[in-house]
Amino acid sequence: MAEREPIRYCGSCGALVEQREAYGRVRPVCPACGRIHFLDPKVAAAVLLEREGKILLVRRAVEPERGKWTLPAGFVEADEDPAEAARRECREETGLRVELLRLLDVIHGKEHSSGASIVIVYEAKIRGGEIQPSDDVDAVTFFELGALPTLAFEATRVAIERWSLRPAPGSDRPPTRPAMNPNAD
Ligand SMILES: [Zn+2]
Repeated sequence: MAEREPIRYCGSCGALVEQREAYGRVRPVCPACGRIHFLDPKVAAAVLLEREGKILLVRRAVEPERGKWTLPAGFVEADEDPAEAARRECREETGLRVELLRLLDVIHGKEHSSGASIVIVYEAKIRGGEIQPSDDVDAVTFFELGALPTLAFEATRVAIERWSLRPAPGSDRPPTRPAMNPNAD
């Protein structure tokens, strides 16, 4: 797993930090002002959109994994509801407005230096819009599960597998919540 750049300077006072034991593990600690720098996870939100048994994938136009396919996804802003981030990123990358149906999975594991360490994946359905690849994707296509293109990330594969193994509607899956975004635009 790739790691982010280590913290070198204190974000409060600018002094060089030291690696010290604090709250159970070694962390960057400022010897001047005492601030302990806790490292927060980067969180992404993704959308798994089905239509007539096919799922929507986007082709990455940027590195890493340029030319490979993944779910519409992007980083959650610090003050943003992950559900809103999922809908926003889907709209930006595919042109489609979606309604989130339920949480599919929460996947942990950083796969590259600029990647997320937690990916929250929602099942969704189309509410409107026209397919128009943009942002950091250059193609948007629905694929049969048996004919998937080369996938970009392990999290992509895990999410699709989880979706493909989901219980059929009406079986003993837990009750779903009401529509998560009644005010979807
Ligand atoms: Zn400091």
